[in-house]
Amino acid sequence: MAGTDNGRMRSVDEHQRVVGQTIRARPAATVSLTDAQGLVLADDVVARLSLPVFDNSAMDGYAVRAEDTAPATPEHPVVLPVTEDIPSGRIDTLTLQPGTAHRIMTGAPVPTGATAIVPVEATDGGLGSVQIRQHATAGKHIRRAGEDVAAGTTVLQAGQRVTPAALGLAAALGQSELTVIPPQRVLVISTGSELVSPGTPLQPGHIYESNSVMLAAAVRETGAVVVATGTAGDDVAQFRALLEKYASDADLIVTTGGVSAGAYEVVKDAFGREGAQGVEFVKVAMQPGMPQGLGHVSGTPIVTLPGNPVSALVSFEVFIRPALRRAMGFPDPQRPLRAAVLTETVTSPRGKRQFRRAILDSSTGHVTSYGPPASHHLRWLASANALLEIPEHVEEVAAGTELLVWDLT
Ligand code: AMP
Ligand code: MG
Repeated sequence: MAGTDNGRMRSVDEHQRVVGQTIRARPAATVSLTDAQGLVLADDVVARLSLPVFDNSAMDGYAVRAEDTAPATPEHPVVLPVTEDIPSGRIDTLTLQPGTAHRIMTGAPVPTGATAIVPVEATDGGLGSVQIRQHATAGKHIRRAGEDVAAGTTVLQAGQRVTPAALGLAAALGQSELTVIPPQRVLVISTGSELVSPGTPLQPGHIYESNSVMLAAAVRETGAVVVATGTAGDDVAQFRALLEKYASDADLIVTTGGVSAGAYEVVKDAFGREGAQGVEFVKVAMQPGMPQGLGHVSGTPIVTLPGNPVSALVSFEVFIRPALRRAMGFPDPQRPLRAAVLTETVTSPRGKRQFRRAILDSSTGHVTSYGPPASHHLRWLASANALLEIPEHVEEVAAGTELLVWDLT
């Protein structure tokens, strides 16, 4: 198609670059641990205290002086009076007198003078006095203060993602907040006078609106937040009203539809077809997803995607997902690429980068194109787990060729 046009089209790489520059990171913010989950740290975390905080018992048992248990055997236990009971949470400072034992629970502070813990399993569990059946060596079953973290150590680094374990560590160090790169806030708008919401009756000539729920889900999957979703008919006033209502609360606006070459292209019409209003419309040398646009609305970045559902989601994958993830500081903004062997010969239009939906079988390392290349075949995308990326200059890829495919799982 339009071989002569291709020279005027923007390359996929160039459009990725421009979208990447348009979507900007939010300034760092200090948020509760709960809100920090999954985000990227903007600052290092330096331990304000040591972990363990104090010497404590690693076992339920008895705190003793190791030498007092030296002769103990199962046949000839050593008997010691139990002079204190130390559950977890006891805060007074205790001293162990020679020739005595303190009953102690896991995590409780080891009394001064004690050099070992005898596990309860090696005793009769006595309360007034205890029979110790096994001798203890000095230091046994004592967790020393600072052996996990010394105060002042950098324990988490800027750029690291906040995992459940990172949250646990921050809490253990007494932090109730972390400084992170906040999630991007995205407004999703579908356009088209033929669109009605699922769950309502369908009139002749109407179709169910599917892009907004799909793209909102894709936005959330990147770790970003959906400010709102909305649908406007092919009516500039309606479309503008949605922008006015929500755009100021968004870091990014994503629209679908209304950017092709026909009449009633509401997104193009709203911004002036020549890009006079800060949004430029371009053809990108790709299939699906050729008509694209981007710019700013009152300072907020906007990316305008084509309306066909497959084009919309593939364009989101190729342009928006990596840019959003980069803006949120994720160390892995791109989908992982997997080497796989193509099971059948596929063809691709000259001069366009083709993204084919595919099934990757990771047990055999085979990849099979899945469904036709046209951009309305949503059914196939819904069950695909990979994208085949066929370069612009390639018109045919033979069965048996090894390729790198995008792993969508
Ligand atoms: P457009 O880009 O507006 O010309 O739309 C291209 C095709 O995608 C048309 O067949 C539309 O009916 C369809 N389409 C556009 N937007 C949506 C949507 N939100 N949900 C489902 N189909 C859509
Ligand atoms: Mg339309």
